[in-house]
Amino acid sequence: MSKQVLSGAWQPERVRLRDDQAIDKLDAEFQLGRRAVGLDAAGRKVLLDGGERVAFDALVIATGVTPRRLPGDDLEGVHVLRTLDDALALRADLLARPKVVVVGAGFLGVEVAAVARTVGLEVTLVDPLPVPMRRQFGDMIGKLVGQTHSDHGVALRLDDWLTVNVWTPAAPVTIRTASGAGSTPRRKVRPARGTTV
Ligand SMILES: Cc1cc2nc3c(=O)[nH]c(=O)nc-3n(C[C@H](O)[C@H](O)[C@H](O)COP(=O)(O)OP(=O)(O)OC[C@H]3O[C@@H](n4cnc5c(N)ncnc54)[C@H](O)[C@@H]3O)c2cc1C
Repeated sequence: MSKQVLSGAWQPERVRLRDDQAIDKLDAEFQLGRRAVGLDAAGRKVLLDGGERVAFDALVIATGVTPRRLPGDDLEGVHVLRTLDDALALRADLLARPKVVVVGAGFLGVEVAAVARTVGLEVTLVDPLPVPMRRQFGDMIGKLVGQTHSDHGVALRLDDWLTVNVWTPAAPVTIRTASGAGSTPRRKVRPARGTTV
């Protein structure tokens, strides 16, 4: 979806997976704007930020992932891609036709590299693993992905713990891939002692 938003093929509204009517049909009770802050697994209750406890028979923890951050990633011209707003901000910057370095050759990294290259930008894709998307697809498919990107003019800097210097509009940034890109699970719900999740 980010591909279509980044390239401008889709308006942001189109990324909604379900409309209001479909959500109403679920007949589920939503507690939006509330944060789960604790879990009492033995008592089968989730603690919300207002102090309220919600009882359950079965519980799914689906708190998502949070992007790994790199030093300097808050500077102008450096983007972390996770939300729709992130994608729109990145799109706005791509319109200025910068040289692009993409750190991380997972799903999102190869996707952003492909979009940036499709609109004619100079793109370098950096990852310490030897082939793109290795964790998702293994070496065989990963090599094909890398070859396709290479054939389309994406410069690949793989298989190395690299230090990349990037000159952003605000300041030079040194990126060490050893710091890692991608995402890590959010762990904001703290289970009570002795709970297995
Ligand atoms: C830019 C981008 C493009 C993508 N494009 C695609 C695509 O085209 N196709 C595809 O299949 N996947 C795509 N993905 C991946 C997809 O978005 C994720 O796999 C999916 O969002 C994961 O869903 P999730 O429910 O696990 O986590 P999330 O979508 O991150 O949802 C987690 C939710 O938990 C809430 N939460 C966090 N902490 C708490 C708490 N303590 N209490 C209560 N709630 C909490 C968060 O506010 C959030 O609403 C894309 C991802 C990105 C970043």
